[in-house]
Amino acid sequence: MNRTSEIENLINIAFKTMLDNTRDMVFVKDVNSVYVAASMPFVKMVGKEWAEEIIGHTDLEIFEDKDLAKRYLADDKKLFNGGRDLVDYIEPITDDHGQARYGSTSKFILRNSRGEILGILGITKDITRDYIARQHYQRELKYLFELPADTYAVSYIDIDGWRIISQRRQSIDGREMKACYTIEDLCNAALEAIVDKDCEAAKFYSNFAPDILWNIYSGGKMNLSFKYQLRLSDDSIRWVHSEVRFLTEIDSGHLCAMLSAKDIDAEKKQEQKIYAAATMDRMTMLLNRETTMESIEDILEKEHDRTHVLYMIDIDNFKMLNDTLGHQAGDEFLIALSAELKKVFRESDVVGRIGGDEFFALMRTVNGMHKMVEKAKELLITIQDVCKMYPNIPLSGSIGISIYPENGKSLEELYAQADAALYQAKRKGKNQFVFAPL
Ligand code: GH3
Ligand code: MG
Repeated sequence: MNRTSEIENLINIAFKTMLDNTRDMVFVKDVNSVYVAASMPFVKMVGKEWAEEIIGHTDLEIFEDKDLAKRYLADDKKLFNGGRDLVDYIEPITDDHGQARYGSTSKFILRNSRGEILGILGITKDITRDYIARQHYQRELKYLFELPADTYAVSYIDIDGWRIISQRRQSIDGREMKACYTIEDLCNAALEAIVDKDCEAAKFYSNFAPDILWNIYSGGKMNLSFKYQLRLSDDSIRWVHSEVRFLTEIDSGHLCAMLSAKDIDAEKKQEQKIYAAATMDRMTMLLNRETTMESIEDILEKEHDRTHVLYMIDIDNFKMLNDTLGHQAGDEFLIALSAELKKVFRESDVVGRIGGDEFFALMRTVNGMHKMVEKAKELLITIQDVCKMYPNIPLSGSIGISIYPENGKSLEELYAQADAALYQAKRKGKNQFVFAPL
């Protein structure tokens, strides 16, 4: 035996001895992520007795937790695709009777003398005890061990290593979030599930990249939070509160982030109910008088350099409907009319009920008299259509119109002008619109 092969032999024996005696979890995988060697602590960690039960198998066959196995394989793939060695990365190792355990892992690419990739050498130290100790002063780490009852998922990501360290998920009343194995998966899943594609959270996830996260963190922000609607596994849509908390991993020194998604649907619905009760007219579900006035004043102030038109609508002979067919019929008419009035205007316009059979609509940012007249005609026709509900009552609508800023710079002035114009419309025989004189 020559000197070189003698040394090679010695290294071989040394490696085997190390595998048999080390207290760390050591393994070797080939280019297909199939195990070719494993130390006893590794064998024990995956719940086996002998290394032979592991050799020849992949993570998917060895680990009961398939999500975990898929994440390990995603890491391997990254290495094989030319990624850098992973050094001292934190990762979950299998649960010990439901108790989470964490390891600090290094994975090195093994190459032959020609530089061809042969496999991976992995070394993992169990750092669960350190982690549990750190849990006491880093509240975010608690999520790695237990998920709060109202939280769908927590993902702990390594921003510098650009990988998911750990992801805990649970189903709440049969609803759950998707499992993810890479950060790209996670962003795609978030973007797909977020209902409003223009919301802050959607923007955040579509720009999710190491440098952007570093910028946020360097800017002094330790956490971000978003509230948005999310589509879950059973196709239900729920409000969630998601948080992003930055923290630095002690072992690797990497910037990491804990992402969580908590169900706040009940609380949000209650909030909306209270808001609706305070701002809406309960019967017609249009804005109530107070909110209508406030919204218009707000627009006049913020968009004082634009032209806006105020339509004041009053139903003709409405009392007759009440007197002939009863209050209930009158109510039904007001509800039907309100729904139709809303359709005449854009979402950004203001449509409100300011009294019994009186309505305000502010059409904002209007260019030209032509549009104002067109809208008035459309309104009259819409009202006439709803009035067909009760063909035996001579119902119709009268409309008084004032223009900002020509007829007044304040809502008070515009109101007075529209009211006077409405009075003219009534006096001239109803079922028509009148513009305030310019
Ligand atoms: P005009 O043609 O001059 O507008 O007369 P009108 O009969 O429409 O009467 P007016 O506009 O002066 O008054 C509106 C009436 O609407 C007064 C009130 O009895 C009735 N009213 C107010 N609020 C409600 C409501 O919530 N439901 C019903 N059904 N009627 C209402
Ligand atoms: Mg009326």
